[in-house]
Amino acid sequence: MNEHCIFCKIVAGQIPSRKVHEDELVYAFHDIHPWAPVHFLIIPKLHIPSMAQVEPAHAGLLGHMTSLAPRLALQEGCRPYPEGGFRIVINTGAEGGQEVHHLHMHVMGGPRPWLKG
Ligand code: AMP
Ligand code: ZN
Repeated sequence: MNEHCIFCKIVAGQIPSRKVHEDELVYAFHDIHPWAPVHFLIIPKLHIPSMAQVEPAHAGLLGHMTSLAPRLALQEGCRPYPEGGFRIVINTGAEGGQEVHHLHMHVMGGPRPWLKG
């Protein structure tokens, strides 16, 4: 845990969040400023600052996050593929639009129009 990291504090329950899913490796919760009718974040419990720090040893963790996304998207109200679907975004670094420096996967979906994207 990084004591200055807002998402580590969410994982630790020190900052409230609306939980979507939790297991031994990851935590998922609703984005506080949603861009789409469905918008949640999947984060590793491990503090990895961004995709730029991802190493081969994290492949299983990233695979777990990626394979959870479609299941949680349906659970949270996205319609099935191909009419429905969802978007996965991982902003990385300042020019990549990253604001919170704890790796997170945005999962967005639901009926259009969306606020952004
Ligand atoms: P990014 O720009 O990719 O770093 O996205 C960070 C996201 O975290 C934004 O969409 C924020 O709305 C979201 N966010 C920041 N603080 C919280 C929080 N306390 N609970 C839920 N989502 C948050
Ligand atoms: Zn963190």
